[in-house]
Parts: sequence; structure tokens; C-alpha cells
Amino acid sequence: MPTVKPKSLTIRSYQVGFGDCFLLTFHYSGKTGDRHVLIDFGSTGTKASMGKNLMLRVAQDIQEQCNGKLHAVIATHRHKDHISGFATNKKGTGSGDIIASCKPDVVLQPWTEHPKAKVNATAAPTTMTANKAFVAALGDMHAISAAVLAEADTRRSKGRISAALHRELTFLGEDNLSNLSAVENLMSMGKKNFYLNFGSKSGLERVLPGVKTRVLGPPTLKQTSTIKIQRSKDEDEFWQFQAMANQFVLKRQARVFRRAKTYTALVAPPFTRWFIKRMRSVRGEQLLGIVRALDKVMNNTSLILLFEVNGKKLLFPGDAQIENWSYALSKPAIKRLLSTVNVYKVGHHGSRNATPKTLWGGFKHRSKKKTDKTRLKSFMSTMTGKHGNARSKTEVPRQTLVAALQSESELFTTQSIKGKGNISLACDIKL
Ligand SMILES: [Zn+2]
Repeated sequence: MPTVKPKSLTIRSYQVGFGDCFLLTFHYSGKTGDRHVLIDFGSTGTKASMGKNLMLRVAQDIQEQCNGKLHAVIATHRHKDHISGFATNKKGTGSGDIIASCKPDVVLQPWTEHPKAKVNATAAPTTMTANKAFVAALGDMHAISAAVLAEADTRRSKGRISAALHRELTFLGEDNLSNLSAVENLMSMGKKNFYLNFGSKSGLERVLPGVKTRVLGPPTLKQTSTIKIQRSKDEDEFWQFQAMANQFVLKRQARVFRRAKTYTALVAPPFTRWFIKRMRSVRGEQLLGIVRALDKVMNNTSLILLFEVNGKKLLFPGDAQIENWSYALSKPAIKRLLSTVNVYKVGHHGSRNATPKTLWGGFKHRSKKKTDKTRLKSFMSTMTGKHGNARSKTEVPRQTLVAALQSESELFTTQSIKGKGNISLACDIKL
């Protein structure tokens, strides 16, 4: 019997403002039919021009496009701009309730999200060995974010920090809050949950016949510790704070998700009180350094997935930054594999730190010729003016990267979706 393979794929990029939401529909002939995979659904900010109830309208459109049945949901990492759309409400009318009603067969998340991961996990439970506090630290970050947000508001009201700094702190702080109902929904909506790390089976084997899905990140701490090692001075300082927080957490030995509940109450748990006291004595810019470091660590828990069908390769790296990428890129065979990528979901909304130059420079299908049929296609979900600034070369999306994407690939960006009625951009790809 010939192997069943999809003939084509539709990638729908949804307008979620600042965030990611992609619906991949693999078209099979015969009784296999269409297979729908939702990758991320979240936002940290929209514009009035996008209309009201955007997330609800996006959820309804996803439900319509997939005919009420999702085959897989992938949440690349726990940030609000990737999972807030999965939030539910008591009435059962939230955007996340609509997605849950599409009964995904499988839900894929990074290993750091495993509900049974102990606070000292270095990998998902099946392979857990050493004694590190990374998973716990991810939980602590929500509490620290809540505290930073409160502190930023106090400082702004007293005129101690600028409006611009307050905006930046609020953005990063909110992105790192815990999004509890979304997290719980992801844990319960699928028939099966998979918590992945570099090299593990994807869990999509039955759902997407004929598609090979490689998991290229995140590595476990056993594989590498670079995802938690930070580089700049500010960030080193953050890790000292965090190490102290961990001492408290380890004593408590509480489970990650039980603790997560206390964070949503916006009451700092006892083990972070020392931190808040200390934080009050630091300057606004230092607060920014802390939340930036925190944001980066969470981004580095992003799943990096590479789909391969009939030799065509599609790369979806979430918001993975260099520390997560470096493990995969350190392997020559993976680097070779990535050099022939045909479709690239631009990492981290086009920020400067998520498309490593080794990766971009290695893409052989980059081409300036618009008529080139094998030209790389890139997909970017972003919103200008939300994050960073051009003066410090931190604006998102980063202009130099956008220029390269425009000149050397066919770029599909959510910023080209205009008007209140339009919420998605569809692109058909022959496989
Ligand atoms: Zn993001």
C-alpha cells in the first residue's frame, strides 16, 4: 500500500496583534481528508483598528476552518502572546472554550510544562535525573513578574520612571504572568498530551501520516544548560536573584501547577517577599533588566519543530532565542538539514535575537529573484511599536531583519492584514 502523504498545505496566519496564531491545514486525498494543526494562539496587545473581540472572532474562524475538529494543538511556550487565546471563562464562552470544543487529538508542549515535572526537574519525568530547579524557576517568574508590575505602577504614579519605561515594563511583565486558565485548558483539552524536548518523538506520527516532525528544541538541562545560562551583566544579576528564590522553592517542594494558582491572586508568595523588598531599592532600568532576562528564559523553553513532507521542510521555532537554538545548531547534521528549509516561521515576531545568523545565512533557498519557484517563504506575526525601540536597535520587528526577509524571501506578515473584518492571511503551498 502506498504511503499516505499530504499533497498540499494551507498556512493561515491570524491577526492577533502582538502574538502568534497559525492554523496549518494539511490536505490529503481520499478518506484521510484535511488535517488541522493549530500552532499557538495568544496576544499581548491589539489595536482599535483590528475591531472588538478579536480573540473570540479568531477562535470562531479557526472552528469554522477546521470544521469543528482540530487534530493537534501546539503551544510553543507559556508566554501570554502564545497562549492567552486558550483562556476559558466560567460561562464556557471564552476563546479557549471554542478551541477546546474542537477536541484536539494531541496537545504538544515543551518538557518544562509537564504537570508532573518536579520542581527540581531537568527533563520531563521519564528521563529526569539531576537536581536542578529550572521548572520551579519558570513558575517563580510569574510571581516575580506580578511583583515587578506592581512596583512599576507605584514608581510611575510617583513620577519616578518615564512613561516609556513603564510601558516596556508593563509589556514584558504582563507577558510573563501565569495565564492559569489557558495553562489548565491546554492540559485537559486533548486526548493525549506530549511534553517534548530535542530529539523526542513529536506525538504527531498518527495525526499527520506521511509527515516527519523533528523536535529540535528545547533541549533538556541534561542535554545542555545553555537555556538557563545568561550572557549579559544584568542577566547574571537576575540569576542570582533567581538562585535565592529557588532555595525557598526547594524547601517547599510544592508542585509547579498548585503553586501557579497562588500567583494569579497577585499576592506575592512568601518566598518572593525578600525579592520585592530588594526590588524597591533598584532603579527602573534595573527592573527592566530583570524582566528582560526573565522573558528571555521563558522564550528559550520554546518548542522548535521541523516538519518534512516529500523533501519540503517547514520550520516553526516559536520564540526560541540563541541559547535554545545553539544546541541544535551545534550539530552538523541538523545544520545541514536546516539549510534546505522551504518555509520559515520567523522567530520571536522578528526580534533581533531569534533568527541566529548561522541559521539565516545557512538557508539555501534564500533568493532575491521573485520568480524563483523554490524561493524561501517566511511567515511573520508581529505588530510594530509594541516592543523595544530603534534607537537601541531593539525594535520588534527589527528593521534590518525585515529588510533581509523582504529581499531574500517571500514574506507573509500579519501587518499586511488591514481592516476590522479581515483576520487572517492564507497561503497555499504545494508539497
Ligand atoms: Zn512571542
